[in-house]
Amino acid sequence: MKITVVGGGIIGCATAYELAKAGCAVTLFERATPGAEASGAAAGLLVPLGAATGSAFERLALASWRLYPEVVDELRERTGIDVDYVTRGTIYPLLDAEDVRQAEARVAGHLSSEFGIEAWDTAEVRAHEPALATHVRGAMFVGADHWVNNQRLVVAYAQAAVAAGVVLRSGTSVSRIIVEDGRTHGVVADGDRWEADAVLLAAGAWTAALAASFGARLRVEPARGQMVALLHVPPLLNHVVHSDDVYLVPRPSGELLIGATVERVGFQRSVTAEGIASLLAAAIGLVPSLGALPIARTWYGFRPWAPDSLPILGPWPDVEGLWVATAHFRNGILLAPITARLMTDWMTTGRPGLEVDEFAPERFLTRGHTTF
Ligand SMILES: Cc1cc2nc3c(=O)[nH]c(=O)nc-3n(C[C@H](O)[C@H](O)[C@H](O)COP(=O)(O)OP(=O)(O)OC[C@H]3O[C@@H](n4cnc5c(N)ncnc54)[C@H](O)[C@@H]3O)c2cc1C
Repeated sequence: MKITVVGGGIIGCATAYELAKAGCAVTLFERATPGAEASGAAAGLLVPLGAATGSAFERLALASWRLYPEVVDELRERTGIDVDYVTRGTIYPLLDAEDVRQAEARVAGHLSSEFGIEAWDTAEVRAHEPALATHVRGAMFVGADHWVNNQRLVVAYAQAAVAAGVVLRSGTSVSRIIVEDGRTHGVVADGDRWEADAVLLAAGAWTAALAASFGARLRVEPARGQMVALLHVPPLLNHVVHSDDVYLVPRPSGELLIGATVERVGFQRSVTAEGIASLLAAAIGLVPSLGALPIARTWYGFRPWAPDSLPILGPWPDVEGLWVATAHFRNGILLAPITARLMTDWMTTGRPGLEVDEFAPERFLTRGHTTF
């Protein structure tokens, strides 16, 4: 089967790779370079236990999290790229009564032992992270919250995809999805028509623009996230530290990533004084000695967001051969391995192999005057 994938973020690159492994002839169009947008901007946290315990989303997240060790090894074998998969766990400071209540529920929950969830008192917090502010008197520790270097991960997926036979067309923008007689026939890119049996839209926050190219409206919008990195040598922190306001990610590269804002400001391509100031204030509040560290860089990215904050995955309802995988919002790095396998199974066998009703494109799709 000849498949066109539009978008060379983590979702497009990972899915192109799995489709090629399944025997498909895949062309991947990326208007810039792989990872140029949200997938290169992310912090790389793999945090599978969200707020909605027991939901289909949580099951999807857990399935993806469980794939990570195998994916990391496979990509290293195929490309030689080490994606800095760090498994030291995350510390959640308990700063108010609500934090304590949530932590108690988690410690007593059914995933507590698999995920290495522990309640730490003041002495344990000090012993593990002496740089934390003295007002942090307790913490929940989640041993299973891992992190990767997502910039390397996208490159590794892209390189593995090419090695598996994917034709990667970087610097090539898709202007239109060709939809005729109720099915897709491919795409128009840089003025040329590229025929395909199936097309997968994986253009992140820009997927709505591709839908508009054939007269459909998909409610996917950008949610800007700002980040700042400090030069973290010698390191003050050993674990990820995650509060409601901010997270701190110590990378093996010697950077400490501080993130992230969540803003609905369209595609405004900038960091702001207020955004960076709020991240730094929250970070220094948790770890006062960070105030003396040099700022290495600041950046932003556009998370693809749908109004219920869940991914959009599956076949386009009234266009044969057209598929979509987007709106991974704050979890696209975590969800990439499972999204790639799910979409590959679904596109090649007609069956998703996982429960997918909650992620149906019909939720946020209108065409002409029809709402699905
Ligand atoms: C600051 C920040 C921090 C984050 N932290 C985390 C985290 O810690 N953990 C986590 O799991 N997730 C995190 N995320 C979310 C994660 O980054 C996204 O969910 C994920 O990267 C989405 O991947 P994607 O491939 O769908 O989109 P993108 O990475 O945005 O890729 C879409 C690609 O499509 C291309 N494109 C668009 N239009 C066209 C066109 N017409 N033709 C050709 N190419 C096109 C773009 O150039 C782009 O490269 C974070 C995001 C941000 C912004």
